[in-house]
Amino acid sequence: MQNLDDESLPLSLYEVTAERVNYPELTDDVSCDVCVVGGGLLGLHTALAAAESGASVVLLEARRVGWGASGRNGGHLIPEFSCGMAKLESALGDGGASRAWQIVRGAAHELRSRIERHRIDCDQRDGHMEVAIAQRHADRLHQWYEHARRRYGAQFRWIDRSEMQRHVGSQRYIAGLLDMDGGHVHPLKLCIGLARALEDSGGQVFERSAVTSWQAAGEGVCVETETGTVLAKRLVLCANVGISSIRAPLAQRLAKRILPVGTWIIATQPLSGPLAQSVLPTRAAVCDNRFVLDYFRLDRDNRLVFGGGCSYLGMATPQGFAAGMRRAMTRVFPQLSETRIDYAWGGVIDITQQRIPDLGCDDTGRVIYAQGFSGSGVVATMAVAGILERALGGDMADFTLFQRIDQKPFPGGPWMRGPLTAAGMFWYRFLDQAL
Ligand SMILES: Cc1cc2nc3c(=O)[nH]c(=O)nc-3n(C[C@H](O)[C@H](O)[C@H](O)COP(=O)(O)OP(=O)(O)OC[C@H]3O[C@@H](n4cnc5c(N)ncnc54)[C@H](O)[C@@H]3O)c2cc1C
Repeated sequence: MQNLDDESLPLSLYEVTAERVNYPELTDDVSCDVCVVGGGLLGLHTALAAAESGASVVLLEARRVGWGASGRNGGHLIPEFSCGMAKLESALGDGGASRAWQIVRGAAHELRSRIERHRIDCDQRDGHMEVAIAQRHADRLHQWYEHARRRYGAQFRWIDRSEMQRHVGSQRYIAGLLDMDGGHVHPLKLCIGLARALEDSGGQVFERSAVTSWQAAGEGVCVETETGTVLAKRLVLCANVGISSIRAPLAQRLAKRILPVGTWIIATQPLSGPLAQSVLPTRAAVCDNRFVLDYFRLDRDNRLVFGGGCSYLGMATPQGFAAGMRRAMTRVFPQLSETRIDYAWGGVIDITQQRIPDLGCDDTGRVIYAQGFSGSGVVATMAVAGILERALGGDMADFTLFQRIDQKPFPGGPWMRGPLTAAGMFWYRFLDQAL
């Protein structure tokens, strides 16, 4: 098994199809209004929004921009929170849930405007589908379709079995929900484009600059790396599972509230035009609605990018994962049995107990954080970045809404929480698979 800390992790398709920009290491003492920790989508969107509203911003990234989940994910634009609306309705009440829905749906539109405004070339396409394999999955999906339509006015389209082949060239699916507000992107190109936009807006980006700790300093916070410091009025933590590497007591408390879960992706060789057409004729991104799901899309070069699987031991790429993913892919698309796999890689998602993002601040209000996108964060990070940015500007309404959710630590300490959660999750996987 390879650990995510290992620099020899297999190269993703995205790393070879995106053009990186090099940013310097922090080797000095600098000061700013807002210091953001983490160069993933959450940190980049938050930093860019703060810079656009006139703050001086420094972003510190431990490795490279988009090195974490944000630059290695499936690229599906899903304008929803991972937990689903039923969880938010019970956690936030009807009014709060409606507001959360409005924020996350709005984020899908704001993301497109941001991409356009900053001319970010990230292969963005519209159209996302959630599909069902078994009747009970289809029933669950249909209930959601009706609920979303009635309660939230969602404009989804129901796709029944007779229409399915027009969207997905597989016999596996019996129904689906098409969401044209969803879609897909090249996630690393998006991250790199956001970093460039941040610089263009006056922000400073530092790579290979891992934050080790922070201390209160006067009216602000002194943020430390091995080779420099940032004196900031406000600090925003967007480090995902990397939060455990920061020594400050708040960071250590936050680390206990998320569980790192490994998950994997493969990408095929470029498919011929007719083969690509036979797989995904409308080129919408697709995921099924099981607990541990398959998800796939065609990229700009007609490669099928196929993801799935999970490991609660937090490792990114266990032995033999690519062969397992290939079997999963040919179960869906037998027509790809002779197709070569060119890339296989993994990443880590940060799940919270309820799969609702975890937002909050320290006692002084100078340090704010968000984490725990639980596997669906390409759009949701934009939604939460908006909440963080409004909080930095003094509008606390949406921030307080999420802050009041009781986020509990996972039981079992750093070594046992994975296996304990895996044991609990096994039951849900069993229910998924028992047809
Ligand atoms: C394989 C995979 C597939 C996925 N597919 C999808 C999908 O198709 N659609 C979807 O919506 N979501 C998907 N997700 C989830 C989505 O990618 C995440 O929810 C989202 O990217 C989280 O963004 P983030 O900015 O919070 O975290 P990250 O992208 O992990 O960013 C955190 C950054 O902080 C940096 N960092 C950590 N510690 C420190 C430190 N001490 N100092 C400085 N920097 C630090 C890290 O290096 C990292 O770059 C997937 C995730 C994975 C792993």
